Amino acid sequence: MPRLVELSSYPWAPSPDLNVEDDAVQLLIVEDDHAVARALIDAVSAAGHQAEHVSRGADALLKHHNAQMILLDLGLPDMDGLEVLRKLRQISEVPVVILSARNDERSVVRGLRQGADDFLVKPIGLAVLLARIDAVARRAKVQSNDNGGVLIAGGLRVDTGKHEAILNGRHLQLTAKEFELLALLAQHDGAVVTREQILDRLWGDAFVAVSRSLDVHLTGLRSKLAAPGMIVNVRGVGYRLETPNP
Ligand code: CA
Repeated sequence: MPRLVELSSYPWAPSPDLNVEDDAVQLLIVEDDHAVARALIDAVSAAGHQAEHVSRGADALLKHHNAQMILLDLGLPDMDGLEVLRKLRQISEVPVVILSARNDERSVVRGLRQGADDFLVKPIGLAVLLARIDAVARRAKVQSNDNGGVLIAGGLRVDTGKHEAILNGRHLQLTAKEFELLALLAQHDGAVVTREQILDRLWGDAFVAVSRSLDVHLTGLRSKLAAPGMIVNVRGVGYRLETPNP
């Protein structure tokens, strides 16, 4: 008898009146049990979602960028799922739903305290899982503010769609990395962006040692901005943007 996800007991087909286009979620499934992963992929796909699957925690930390939501197992071969969650929360606010056989109060509380959006105990009814995915997606949608890819802060305007940055009417000639760095800082609107967040965005890996390289791009960006004090170094944490008024 299948122990974790009992697909056969939940014959599920997308209901014809479900607006699949609007509600579709790009999921990253982090699960080392391939039978469970297969059942999850089949179920969420039948509901109109897209799913990518990884088996290891380290891969989850590299692949989270494409996901709108992560389904996270806790018992993973390379690191504990709670450690994956802790690291992920240093760099991303992507919604995370924990799916675990651990049902002790301590694990659930730790999961939620460390930033999980929901915690489902295996075996999980697939109808319940799909409803929880929808509920978490709805909350995330409400919180996200879609500004059409244009960030404006003081005299700075960053258009991520056009890949264009203008400071006080002056077009900045930035390299790809410098542009990404500036866009990331502008997105946080004066709040500190940690080095881990920057490494994650620019190199796709928050926990790799390319700090020296980051310093080079920072120096390049600062000289092109030609606005001393605009990128503030917050010692031991990261950087924040102090935007001048036009
Ligand atoms: Ca597992």
